[in-house]
Amino acid sequence: MSTSSAHMTTSEFNNENLAPLFSSEKIQARIGEMGAEIARDYKDKNPLLIVVLKGACIFASDLLRAIDLKLGIEFMAISSYGASTRTSGEVRIVKDLDVPIEGRDILVVEDIVDTGLTLSYLMENLRSRGASSVKLAALLDKHERRQREVAIDYLGFGIPDEFVVGYGLDFAERYRNLPYIAILKNPEVQ
Ligand code: 5GP
Repeated sequence: MSTSSAHMTTSEFNNENLAPLFSSEKIQARIGEMGAEIARDYKDKNPLLIVVLKGACIFASDLLRAIDLKLGIEFMAISSYGASTRTSGEVRIVKDLDVPIEGRDILVVEDIVDTGLTLSYLMENLRSRGASSVKLAALLDKHERRQREVAIDYLGFGIPDEFVVGYGLDFAERYRNLPYIAILKNPEVQ
């Protein structure tokens, strides 16, 4: 078995452009706590978890299994209009729900809240459909960057203003499969 640096630099999971932030173990431990808290809060209810594709899919699959309750899951996909650096606040629903949510207790599952523009739009949109309650579970919160206030009911971790990848989060569709969360040191490096 070789552990030479030449091999390390070619690894998708362990290369010089990744600075580890949260290990897989740390993520799982925190998700266990979040799941227990959600199960307590929604006791005797049948919440519908709405997973925001694609980034939240890995977080959601672990979170679901940490919630010991009868529940349902649905998926939505959202995209921001224009360049991602623009702050128009306009978002577009790329994939909508297949079911009505009137009277349901909704828990939105998102990977990261950054400016808050996407989530503030989505939460408002879901509330307007007559749900009984609409709450948010987010794995990461980059609070320094917030432009629109979004209440995060269940939060994994607060993070500094850095671009992170892994555990569902991508850079140009890469690194979603990384088992941990890392800061991408230099997005120019491929
Ligand atoms: P917001 O509307 O809060 O600015 O946008 C949130 C979305 O931006 C997230 O769902 C995610 O897709 C993307 N995003 C924001 N910060 C990061 C980051 O550090 N890494 C990655 N991979 N995506 C991010």
